[in-house]
Amino acid sequence: LTRLKAKLAKSDNPFGKVLFNILTKDNLSEADWEDVEDTLLLADVGAEASGQLVDELRTDARVNDRSNPAEVRAALKEKLLDLVGRDTDRRLNAEKPGANKPGVIIMVGVNGTGKTTTAGKLARLFVAEGKQVVMGAADTFRAAAADQLETWGARVNVPVVRSDKDGADPASVAFEASAKAKETNADVLIIDTAGRLQNKANLMDELGKIRRVTEKNLPVDEVLLVLDATTGQNGMIQAKVFAEAIGITGVVLSKLDGSAKGGIVISVQKELGVPVKLVGLGEGPDDLAPFDPEGFVDGILA
Ligand code: GDP
Repeated sequence: LTRLKAKLAKSDNPFGKVLFNILTKDNLSEADWEDVEDTLLLADVGAEASGQLVDELRTDARVNDRSNPAEVRAALKEKLLDLVGRDTDRRLNAEKPGANKPGVIIMVGVNGTGKTTTAGKLARLFVAEGKQVVMGAADTFRAAAADQLETWGARVNVPVVRSDKDGADPASVAFEASAKAKETNADVLIIDTAGRLQNKANLMDELGKIRRVTEKNLPVDEVLLVLDATTGQNGMIQAKVFAEAIGITGVVLSKLDGSAKGGIVISVQKELGVPVKLVGLGEGPDDLAPFDPEGFVDGILA
């Protein structure tokens, strides 16, 4: 938590701070309210949530009074926390009581967003909890992807099921990985997939097949979409394609360490109706954390 706060605080010009500076001016003109809205839009909060927040701030007594900056900050924090969702259940399904064993997690997302890295970091988190993990390298499109996952596997001491052939059928890797997880009675199976967006029909076919084939062995508990926090509204478009192609149960927002925006947390939840469950805060093995709404909002207000 402290680490998350420290990392987020390092972002240049977090948007909450910009908002606070505007809201504590002596007089608020229409132009200032436009600045508030533009700041939210630039931070990727999304049009709907931005409009909602502006309306709420405009009618808030503490903001209108402005004599006490601490109260203005408190009002802003409260409303941001409401938007982010302070009480949302963000546990991975594999961590909920009565979860399936093995719990199955499929990682999806556009190439380069950090899927493979996140799979490795996630395996490490489970291993740290004493869980037995299997990973499946169903990204058979990019030759280096299976090698990369294997490197992570060796690093965190988790077996990786892969194919030796380039361009092998990703679903067959998913089948073998789920068979192995079942046989060895693992706690968690994490399947990495390829994310080519050029052709939506192909993507749907491929992800659908991976899911169906996996389900011959084990029920799929979770589909985690990895979204790069620095890609903004483009990331939202990608997210919708994946949500349609396979259905997602949660989002991992990667590269939050490199983004002063972060408002995408709000827009992605609002538009997809699924929570941000984890955030990526760097390239190292420990740089994945459960998403903490309070720490996040403190970070953007820092
Ligand atoms: P994939 O193609 O989606 O599997 O993406 P990779 O896992 O190969 O990651 C792409 C690049 O992003 C790599 O250089 C990773 O080290 C980097 N990366 C992944 N997650 C994070 C993160 O949370 N923060 C930062 N700064 N870099 C990350």
